[in-house]
Amino acid sequence: MDDEVLEAVAKILEEVYDGEVEIQLAEDLIGEDFLNPDRGQYDAWKIVQYYRGILGENEYILLITDKDLYAAGLNFVFGLAWRGVAIISVHRLFPEFYGQQSDRELFKERVLKEVVHEVGHLHGLTHCSDRRCVMAFSNSIIDTDYKMNMPCKRCLTKLRLL
Ligand SMILES: [Zn+2]
Ligand SMILES: [Zn+2]
Repeated sequence: MDDEVLEAVAKILEEVYDGEVEIQLAEDLIGEDFLNPDRGQYDAWKIVQYYRGILGENEYILLITDKDLYAAGLNFVFGLAWRGVAIISVHRLFPEFYGQQSDRELFKERVLKEVVHEVGHLHGLTHCSDRRCVMAFSNSIIDTDYKMNMPCKRCLTKLRLL
C-alpha cells in the first residue's frame, strides 16, 4: 500500500474516533503459521488472538494486510475485530480482484470504509441496519461500495456515549 492510502487511513481514524494514530510498517505481519493450506487463506481469528496476546493491556492495534482472510463459517472476511485488535485485508478491495480495471481512488475509498468499520467494533459499535452506514455488515464488495465511510447519526451518537 502506498503512503497516500496510509495517511488517509490515519486521517479518517483520527477524525472519526478522536485519537492519535501511529503508522508502523511491518514485514511478516502475518506469519505462514496462520495459513490454512487447504483454503489458501489466512485464519483471521487466530491472527487477532495472537496479536491480543502480545499487545499491552490498553493498546489498540489495526493490522492491514494483503493476505486473503477467512473466519470459521465464512468464505472470506474483509476484516475482524476483537478486544483491541482489528485486522483488515485489502486482498478483495482491489478492483483487479473482480477482473476490473485498476482504480486507486476506488481502492482507497474501500480501505477507508473497512478500517472505519473495524475500528468502530473496537470502540464497541455493533453492526448497523442502515446499509449506508459504515457499520453495516459487508457480505460482498457491492455492500462495501454502497455504504459511506462514516457512521450514521445513530452510530455516532452511540459512539459518543460508549
Ligand atoms: Zn463488522
Ligand atoms: Zn449506523
